[in-house]
Amino acid sequence: MDISFQNKRVLVTGAGQGIGRELVKALVRYGAEVIALSRTKEHLDTLCQEVNVTPVCVDLSDWDTAREAVRKIGPVDCLVNNAAVALLDPFLKAKPEDFDKSFAVNVKAVLNVSQVVAESMIQRGKGGTIVNLSSQASQAALADHAIYCASKAAVDQLSKVMALELGPHNIRVNCVNPTVVMTEMGKIGWSKPEKASTMLSKIPMGRFAEPEDVVNAVIFLLSSKSDMINGICVPIDGGFLAC
Ligand code: NAP
Repeated sequence: MDISFQNKRVLVTGAGQGIGRELVKALVRYGAEVIALSRTKEHLDTLCQEVNVTPVCVDLSDWDTAREAVRKIGPVDCLVNNAAVALLDPFLKAKPEDFDKSFAVNVKAVLNVSQVVAESMIQRGKGGTIVNLSSQASQAALADHAIYCASKAAVDQLSKVMALELGPHNIRVNCVNPTVVMTEMGKIGWSKPEKASTMLSKIPMGRFAEPEDVVNAVIFLLSSKSDMINGICVPIDGGFLAC
């Protein structure tokens, strides 16, 4: 499929490592001008040594500072809300501060960044595309993931309301919902062999997702090749959610 992001400005959050970092590099290969937003400056510094992107270092859990930073970026054609944290505990031990931090980054920041970006897309009148990184955890109960699962379920539903309200402005909003990807975040929940093998046994394809599996789906949903796709959650899970 012939996809190009020439003359497109794309904002990716959580660009410093993991899936976001791989996505940034792919978008640059497809010709996009990429604004890479993340929390840790060192990660952005090494990314900038690899590819030509505009770095924005900001903590998305700080609503006002993040909002101002995103305003300063100016108009973009595409947005990927990828930044998130996974703070895991058994349900009975889940901490209120972890709930607040998780929802601040995983959900509230999606609302914050998307509001600024969508307002500017509406003013320009050229439409746009938004992809939110959700998870299989939005639809399947995973042990020790109570807060994370709840935050990703919120992302799914937030995305659907965004699709409903922004669609008339020619702004499409979709989610991707990967299974485990062995990034720094993936290692938090799944590096123990017994946990990994239990999860793998529930994935018909018999493997975890690679960052590239997620990147390819995000690129498609951001591109004009998915022009009539709006408000969906795409599992990238080798069939986990089908079983
Ligand atoms: P990751 O390797 O931990 O990377 C997360 C990125 O988000 C990092 O660059 C991190 O910045 C950034 N970030 C976190 N908190 C932030 C904040 N407050 N402000 C700004 N940036 C912040 O995670 P990943 O595995 O690539 O996950 C990417 C997305 O996929 C997430 O939405 C995640 O929930 C979702 N997902 C992951 C998996 C998985 O198994 N890995 C599965 C399903 C869905 P730093 O540079 O400071 O670390």
